[in-house]
Amino acid sequence: MEHIANITTGLDIAQIRKDFPILQQQVHGKPLVYFDNGATTQKPQVVIDAEARYYEEYNSNVHRGVHHLSQVATDAYEKARHIVAGYINAAHSHEIIFTKGTTDGINLVANTMSRRFLKAGDSVIISSMEHHSNIVPWQIACEEAGATLKVIPITEKGELRMDVYESMLDDTVKMVAVTYVSNTLGTVNPVQDIIALAHARNIPVLIDAAQAIQHISIDVQALQPDFLVFSGHKIYGPTGTGVLYGTTEWLNKLPPYQGGGDMIKTVTFAKTIYNELPYKFEAGTPNIAGSIALGTAIEYLQQIGLPEIQQREEALMAYAMQELRKIDGIRFIGDAQNRSGVISFLVHNIHPFDMGELLDQQGIAVRTGHHCTEPLMDLFQVPGTVRASLTFYNTKEEIDKLVAGVKRAASMLL
Ligand code: PLP
Repeated sequence: MEHIANITTGLDIAQIRKDFPILQQQVHGKPLVYFDNGATTQKPQVVIDAEARYYEEYNSNVHRGVHHLSQVATDAYEKARHIVAGYINAAHSHEIIFTKGTTDGINLVANTMSRRFLKAGDSVIISSMEHHSNIVPWQIACEEAGATLKVIPITEKGELRMDVYESMLDDTVKMVAVTYVSNTLGTVNPVQDIIALAHARNIPVLIDAAQAIQHISIDVQALQPDFLVFSGHKIYGPTGTGVLYGTTEWLNKLPPYQGGGDMIKTVTFAKTIYNELPYKFEAGTPNIAGSIALGTAIEYLQQIGLPEIQQREEALMAYAMQELRKIDGIRFIGDAQNRSGVISFLVHNIHPFDMGELLDQQGIAVRTGHHCTEPLMDLFQVPGTVRASLTFYNTKEEIDKLVAGVKRAASMLL
C-alpha cells in the first residue's frame, strides 16, 4: 500500500497537468481521460512553444549558412543533440543520430547492417513481442541477404524464454534486436542479460526503447547496447522526431543509409567522401524545429525528475492493476512480474473495439486492436486487446473512471 500512498504524496500533479493544454478539454461533454500514452504522449506548453519559437524567431537551415539565423538554428539543433546524449549518458554526442522516429531508426540499422554484414546462412534474432517496426525491417533485411529470422518465444505471462534465447545464440547469429518494454503487454525485458549473452559471442544488439525511454532511466554506457532507438513523440516531444543511438565503433562501421546533402564531405561525379558522425546518417534537411523541441521535452522531464516520475508511474500501475483485477470477467493479456506503462485486457467475450467505443463516449481514450503486434495477438489467440497506457500526468481519479467506465460498458454489452 505504500506505493499507492505515493500517488498523492509525490509530485504536484494538478499543477503539472496545467502544463499540458490538451488535457484541459472535454470529449463528448466529459473531461478527457487520456490513457493512450503508449501510442503518443501529450505535449507540454514549453515543447509547443519551442517549436513555434524556431519558426517565429530563427527559422533557418542548419550547418549551411554563415549568417546569424543559421548559426542560431545550428546551435539550438546541436544543443538538442547534447541534451539527448546527456539523458541516456552517451559517451559522445556524435553517437546521437536524429531520425524520424523508432521505425526510421530500426530501418536505418537493418538496412545498413544487412548490406554490409548479413549474408546467406546468417540469422537475426528478434522476440515474439516485437512491434511490427522491429519485425518487418529485419524480415526485409533477411530476405534480401538470404538470412533467417529467429524469434524468441514467450511464456503465457508474456515474459521472454531466456533459456531458449540462450540456446539460440549460435555462430549464425549476426544481430539481436529486441524491445525493452512491450507496447502490448507492458513486459519489461531483461535487456541487460540479453545484451550480455549476445556480447559474450560478439553479437551486436539493438534495443527498441520506444516504450522505455519515457518511463525508465537508461544509461547506455552501463547497459552497453550497440544501438538503441526511440521516438520523440512518445517522450512528450513532437511527432516526426526520434533518436538512434549507436556506438562510435558501429556507426563508423556501417555504410550510409541515405545519400544527399549534409551527409557528405566532398562530392565529385567520380566519388563521394562521406561526412563524419553524426552527419553521415542525417541526409537532407532534418526536422530542425522538431529535434530542438525534443530537447526541450527531455529538459522538461529532467526538471520534474525521472526517478519521481518512475515512482509515480509504478504506483499508478499498481493501483490500476489492483482495481482492474476486481472487474468481473476481466482477462489480462500479459501479466509479467516486471511491467511498465501498459495494461492490455479483455472483458468476457466483448470485442475490444466495442469496449473502446463505449469508453470513448465517456471521454476515456484507450487503444484497441492489435497494437502493431499481430504475431503476438496470434500467439494469445485474441483478435486484439483494450490497452490502457499510463503516464505520470494520469491520476488515481482517472483510473477510477476507467474502471467504472469498463464496468458500465460491460453491463451494456453483455
Ligand atoms: N516499437 C515500439 C515498442 C512501439 O511501441 C512503437 C510505437 O508504438 C514503435 C516501435 C514505432 O514507433 P514509431 O511509430 O514512432 O516509429
